[in-house]
Amino acid sequence: MARFPQARFLLSAAAPAQFPSDSGAEVAFAGRSNAGKSSAINAIVGRQALARASKTPGRTRLVNFFELSAERRLVDLPGYGYASAPESERRTWPQLLEALRRRSSLKGLFVIVDVRRGITEGDLALLEWAGPAQRAHVLLSKTDKLSRNEARRALSVAAAAMGEGVSVQLFSAHTRVGVEEAQRVLSAWLADVS
Ligand code: GDP
Repeated sequence: MARFPQARFLLSAAAPAQFPSDSGAEVAFAGRSNAGKSSAINAIVGRQALARASKTPGRTRLVNFFELSAERRLVDLPGYGYASAPESERRTWPQLLEALRRRSSLKGLFVIVDVRRGITEGDLALLEWAGPAQRAHVLLSKTDKLSRNEARRALSVAAAAMGEGVSVQLFSAHTRVGVEEAQRVLSAWLADVS
């Protein structure tokens, strides 16, 4: 059953001025390109075609907002980690992040990390950016690619590398390992509108 049955694509923003109004609650999803972010969003939200919208050519480099329910949003950030990103993009990325961080509706950050690659420099930079002000939750994705023991080891290595306030879990969009746990974290954060 779809966890967020009313989920729909809201808008793509190339600049902070295009962000939706800063009310309600939203959670951002980020990750290195190919980490499995779109697959994770689809599995967690329970709508297969949702994150396909953000794979549409032209939209992949934008910040995509999805409305999960009234005043509850998921923010899909562009994948990072490719040195070949155009200069214009490298300039606008910090501005977009900064504007996002200032929103009072932003309740936390999900970072999708390919479990076989582990936490990369880009992931750490992003987690540092989120800082203590933002809660962060790391999904170690594609755990179906590892044995149970390897996955357990990867989880403890990643958890040890994380600072306080960052939670880490195993996840697989293919086998649905960890989907419910991720849904619980997302729902709890979205419920926080204080
Ligand atoms: P994104 O670029 O971070 O949005 O990543 P995608 O969701 O498009 O996935 C990148 C690649 O990883 C695709 O070939 C997916 O089929 C694959 N992938 C995503 N999630 C999983 C998973 O849970 N298990 C496995 N084995 N492959 C996955």
